[in-house]
Amino acid sequence: MVHTAAQQPTLAPDTVFDWLDEAADLRAAAGLTRTLRSRPADDPVLDLASNDYLGLVHHPAVTRAAADAALRWGGGATGSRLVTGTTALHTELEDELAAFCGFEAALVFASGYAANLAALTALTDPDTLIVSDAYNHASLIDGCRLSRSDVHRAPHADPAAVRRILAERTHRRALVVSDSVFSVDGNAAPLAELSAAAQDHGAALLIDDAHGLGVLGPGGAGAPAAFGLAGRPDTVATVTLSKSLGSQGGAVLGPRRVIRHLVETARTFIFDTGLAPAAVGAALGALRLLRAEPERAERAREVARTLADRLTAAGLHASTPDAAVVSVRAPGPEAAVRWAADCRTAGLAVGCFRPPSVPDGISRLRLTARGDLTDTQIADAVRIIAVTGASHADRP
Ligand code: PMP
Repeated sequence: MVHTAAQQPTLAPDTVFDWLDEAADLRAAAGLTRTLRSRPADDPVLDLASNDYLGLVHHPAVTRAAADAALRWGGGATGSRLVTGTTALHTELEDELAAFCGFEAALVFASGYAANLAALTALTDPDTLIVSDAYNHASLIDGCRLSRSDVHRAPHADPAAVRRILAERTHRRALVVSDSVFSVDGNAAPLAELSAAAQDHGAALLIDDAHGLGVLGPGGAGAPAAFGLAGRPDTVATVTLSKSLGSQGGAVLGPRRVIRHLVETARTFIFDTGLAPAAVGAALGALRLLRAEPERAERAREVARTLADRLTAAGLHASTPDAAVVSVRAPGPEAAVRWAADCRTAGLAVGCFRPPSVPDGISRLRLTARGDLTDTQIADAVRIIAVTGASHADRP
């Protein structure tokens, strides 16, 4: 609504934010209230809600590396990366991450979110067309918004549509952007076909491998390695250090000249404090563990397939997992919330995804198929979800 200066509403200071309560009431009426709950350190529930895909967050090799890094380098990075915030550990992590994933170079950010904003803003300009999968993560969507480029939202996992959009472009440059593994259902993007479409039209490809690193590819080297795209001169990947690597932070991986460009131009790199040494240490510890124990990645994929098969056999509407995420459909947001609460009461923590976190509007339970789950834990989880689902589940 547009008001002229004379019509501006006069609001008492204590009513200025009244509209927030009205918005909260609308969310509550739609079953979309969200509440924070702090997690006790020794929570006895079985955790299938976190993104700790390989069960490394408490691994002594990871926690000890975090503690050692904090003791040696301090509690924080002390400044932005270009000023005082780059320690020898940051450089080690960048070199080892790039080598592990098969790229020329890597640059570490304070989060995966910041890495995505950096890649999308620094690698585009007003003469760029970004072709972005409709189900891409919020951080990619925000990066598109910040990019000042034209953005075409392509139908989900549809390389033929991406080809058509690229063929019709009038822009000098184009960038195809996709999650490697979509975080809600755990399905993989058709990366080989997207890469072929990009190549045929002189476009670059940006892959957000938040859910692929540590799970897909040889030894968990990630989706770009799994699809034969790692190290390509036209391909860039982003990762988070906060899922399989049991730490915090993010990174962009790509050709050396892309990384140099990010160092010199990416605002979320230049104006953000460097990642804390403890987080860098933890990620390095996890990466070294993954190199020493490459079977961890395959085990996580196997747990996901077992979970999905058994949930389907129990009559539930489970997704077909390509990585370490399985989802189970609920008939609506309120049922999903009650179902997740009943699971928790029965000793199982599961994720509960509702609009706006689900692009297709379908509410679901989201399960992390942690690679360290035992067969007994998998059986317990399936039993609890099936029993509690008797009153809340969507049936196929
Ligand atoms: N991309 C995807 C696909 C994600 O799922 C997430 C985190 N949920 C991010 C990026 C952001 O990573 P971070 O949490 O490290 O900011």
